[in-house]
Amino acid sequence: MTHSPIWHPFTQHALFPDSVFIDRAEGAYLYAKDGRRIIDAISSWWVNIHGHNHPKIVAAVQEQATKLDQIIFAGFTHEPAERLAEKLVGLTPPNLTRVFYSDSGSTAVEVALKMALGYWAHKDEPRRGVVALDHAYHGDTFGAMSVGSRGVFSELYDNFLFDVHRLPFPETGREHLTVEAFARLLKKQANDIAALIVEPLVLGAAGMRIYSAATLRSLYALCRSYGVIFIADEVMTGWGRTGTRFACEQAHIDPDIVCLSKGLTNGYLPMAATLATEYIYQAFYNTDRAKTFFHSTSFTGNPLACAAACASIDLWEEDNVAERIKTLHDHQAALLPRLAARKDIENVRHIGIIMALEVCNVRQGYLSDVAPKLYRYFLSQGVLLRPIGQTIYMLPPYCVSQDDLNFIVGAIERALDALACGDLENI
Ligand code: PMP
Repeated sequence: MTHSPIWHPFTQHALFPDSVFIDRAEGAYLYAKDGRRIIDAISSWWVNIHGHNHPKIVAAVQEQATKLDQIIFAGFTHEPAERLAEKLVGLTPPNLTRVFYSDSGSTAVEVALKMALGYWAHKDEPRRGVVALDHAYHGDTFGAMSVGSRGVFSELYDNFLFDVHRLPFPETGREHLTVEAFARLLKKQANDIAALIVEPLVLGAAGMRIYSAATLRSLYALCRSYGVIFIADEVMTGWGRTGTRFACEQAHIDPDIVCLSKGLTNGYLPMAATLATEYIYQAFYNTDRAKTFFHSTSFTGNPLACAAACASIDLWEEDNVAERIKTLHDHQAALLPRLAARKDIENVRHIGIIMALEVCNVRQGYLSDVAPKLYRYFLSQGVLLRPIGQTIYMLPPYCVSQDDLNFIVGAIERALDALACGDLENI
């Protein structure tokens, strides 16, 4: 693969010249051209929920492909898009009445920010302030990077990003500091804070940092008191990852805007949806064409992606996915004490089907040398785990078996043993 012209994402080609060539995938497994079977323990960047190539999703896409491919979505609509919008409105809180399609988590966030800032501009009381959590990640386009935390990902572009207000991450036992910081900010600049954007309950790319539903609820309550738009970026946490279909359900809150992507189509096709309240929609609803919501991507509302998403949502009932998630959570919970007993790791944590831990006594941060060493070792064992710095985490599709889970945890234990003996140096 060394001569491939492809420039891969988040890949330092000088260190990783070769990619694993995958021929096909089924359920929780990826099958490589060289004959290896690899357990997809991170759902291929968190997109896959029911397993790869699920026959019902394959059939839905095949059927759609014979009817309608891609059409312009301005002034036109189609059956799978309408069907999906109804499903999404039905699954989310009743205040969310409008569905805007795009094609990735980042675009879902861009749309959310443009809706929120546009709302205030159209109301003729422009508020410009956006608030976000420390360590947040919301995508790699410029708006999404702006609300994300600054660091190695954004460094080259920091001067081009807009400033946002930051709240400290709600560490366990110190959650009040986050809530108090937000309250102080609102008191001081009540008329200039347009929106708060959060990853509810878990900051994914920050290394699966978990915080409490009570804190999420307090932040939401402050938004309500000051009329601030609450944006829930459920791109990672949505579709069951935290135990409920959407993380916000655990805090019993009704966000004004919700961003969905990744598991929306079971990762079968790229797609995202930004859901908004009627009052935000109405701020743009006007006979004045200048007040149109000016955002589009060519592939907005792609019929095949909509068909995949509808089939994926139907599977929740047909395959009793809620029960599967619970069983998977329990199986993981039973494995936790084994890991927690080790002295070379700390902060073993678990929410829904996400398990994460920190490797001790290694360089900390995204560029920690331990991450590529562990990654290579895991692959050599037939497991796809892609540590974020010193954080090892697992976020599997819901079809993963108990044997697979045992195998994944076994691979983690062997990796830690090998790390301790210095055996990962030449991997
Ligand atoms: N928001 C969150 C919370 C994410 O985790 C991600 C991707 N990991 C994104 C947005 C961006 O999604 P995408 O990579 O599809 O643009």
